[in-house]
Amino acid sequence: MQRQDLELLGLSITNVTMERALEMVMDCAGERHTMHFVNAHCINIAAKDPEYHRILSQADALFADGSGIRFAGKWLGTPIIDNVNGTDMFPLLCQACARSGKRLFLLGAAPGIAQQVADWTKEHTGSEVVAGYHHGFFSSAEESSVVESIHSSGADLLLVAMGVPAQEKWIARLRDRLDVPVCMGVGGLFDFYSGSISRAPKWMRSVGIEWVWRLCMEPHRMWRRYIVGNVVFIVRIARIRFTRVHKESATE
Ligand code: UDP
Repeated sequence: MQRQDLELLGLSITNVTMERALEMVMDCAGERHTMHFVNAHCINIAAKDPEYHRILSQADALFADGSGIRFAGKWLGTPIIDNVNGTDMFPLLCQACARSGKRLFLLGAAPGIAQQVADWTKEHTGSEVVAGYHHGFFSSAEESSVVESIHSSGADLLLVAMGVPAQEKWIARLRDRLDVPVCMGVGGLFDFYSGSISRAPKWMRSVGIEWVWRLCMEPHRMWRRYIVGNVVFIVRIARIRFTRVHKESATE
């Protein structure tokens, strides 16, 4: 199912269910595709960082991640169908890979984490869905060997977990050299599936306050993102709505 996409800050946010998003990812076997998840924090960064904005605008899909984007959709008259975030998509993606024989390369997070995620996928799917992995703290001198290990793994999908906007910029800079059909930026996902950071309880996720949990887990790193960032985001959306309503009433 797809509804009208949400236009936000000149970016077109793909308005699909999780099921359809997963199909889009899995169907992109032939050509090279780049897909990203966009939440309120990403929009705040894109508003100030033209390079990141350009990268997002050139992606094949931007999935609507989190309650901030849902709120924006509601306020701007384009209700968002589903919360399509990487953390919920990951187990579904692993199962789809196990069924289809496609394989993932996991790039990012601290040394040892991606390997734990690979172990998790084996345990939960009973298959070898991970073709290879590498941590995300390598130097520029090591970059070519990382690209080579992605290439030689024969992976169908590359998940890059190095944080926003570094991961999107890394993919964009190296996209021509990355011989992988699908590349996606997935943020802190590996930390959750390795068990190094626990995810919010289900009830918090279902009422759209997973960010409160993340704030409690890492207050020093997250306070600016959530306390300041959420206010900035709400003001941004309110301003867009006000400008729109003002324009509409002026043309009547
Ligand atoms: N990270 C990395 N390389 C770096 C900096 C960060 O691999 O040079 C990893 C970090 O270990 C963490 C992830 O990137 O696993 C960023 O997580 P965060 O929750 O900040 O993601 P975001 O919410 O920004 O997408």
